[in-house]
Amino acid sequence: MTTLDDLPLRSELKGRSPYGAPQLDVEVRLNTNENPYSLPEPVAEAVEQALAAVLRDLNRYPDREAEALRADLAAYLGAATGHDGLTGANLWAANGSNEVQQQLLQVFGGPGHLAMGFSPSYSMHEILAAGTGTQWHDAQRGADFALRPESASSLVRVYQPDIVFLCSPNNPTGTALDLEVIESVAREAPGVVVVDEAYGEFAREGTPSAVTLLPKYPRLIVTRTMSKAFAFAGVRLGYLAADPAVVQAVQLVRLPYHLSALTQAAARAALANSPLLLAQVEAIKTERDRIVAGLRALDLTVADSDANFVLFATPTRDQQATWQALLDRSVLVRDVGLPGWLRVTAGTHDETTWFLEAMAEVVADQR
Ligand code: PMP
Repeated sequence: MTTLDDLPLRSELKGRSPYGAPQLDVEVRLNTNENPYSLPEPVAEAVEQALAAVLRDLNRYPDREAEALRADLAAYLGAATGHDGLTGANLWAANGSNEVQQQLLQVFGGPGHLAMGFSPSYSMHEILAAGTGTQWHDAQRGADFALRPESASSLVRVYQPDIVFLCSPNNPTGTALDLEVIESVAREAPGVVVVDEAYGEFAREGTPSAVTLLPKYPRLIVTRTMSKAFAFAGVRLGYLAADPAVVQAVQLVRLPYHLSALTQAAARAALANSPLLLAQVEAIKTERDRIVAGLRALDLTVADSDANFVLFATPTRDQQATWQALLDRSVLVRDVGLPGWLRVTAGTHDETTWFLEAMAEVVADQR
């Protein structure tokens, strides 16, 4: 049988395994930061009608530049972040924010170029770098996982990366970055700075989006997604906001007609109903805060969360034992490979209760 080792793989891909979390059949699935609520019925109906309206034109390619969708995204993002100057020219959309980030690496990275991130952070950034032949430098955060303006910018000064990835709120730690950190990196960076705001809608009060910095920094790029707050993960719709020149640069590498007519129609229908869809965000934040408080009440160390998930220290350094003990109670959480830590997604009220009760038992067993 032929194995991967028999193939002439590029050296940076040798020995790797595909990204992904276990997909197990359990009662309470809290391991991939999905929104636990399905689409509200009126939104599902609006999406259905929008899809029906394009079905008979599927013999034609879609709008290659997704102009109408980008204008809708600009209106949503401008209102959500308080940046009133955004237009469709500032926006770009693709099949999930992962694809947007891959396109950015294709434009600004590639062989002979360096991308850099601050781990622990979203591990796909490094995987996308490998896939595009971009060299990667992993700058480590301190024990408290914080990122400070001076240390972040001094690392950028030393390594001179073509692309810096920042993640805010950061996955897996959950905490948002101060805009000061983003500004200090944007001032120092010789190339582009990508702020991954996949969880931006879940941030706590008073945490502004990096979108508000765009007018000041033409090489700053903010990526966002409809996969989390919009409960639209199955559609695959991510986007970026940046200077129009960045959008033009991405158009140099995008595949023609990369975003299907069905995706564009579904996303526009969802955006037209964004207040209804986003109504669930408050409920999720309430459960997120309940997890933070509940785990702290068990005397566990818990990172502050601006996201729909929480990183917590396990009773012992052996996080795999806690992961397994939770699984034994039909709760699936995420082992992100950080010794002594696990990540749990905020679920519905009942799922969160199930998780907290299971954790109380596990802590009692493992202490
Ligand atoms: N960025 C971060 C930080 C994420 O956690 C995720 C999803 N796990 C993504 C981007 C990708 O989201 P999508 O491709 O669904 O937009």
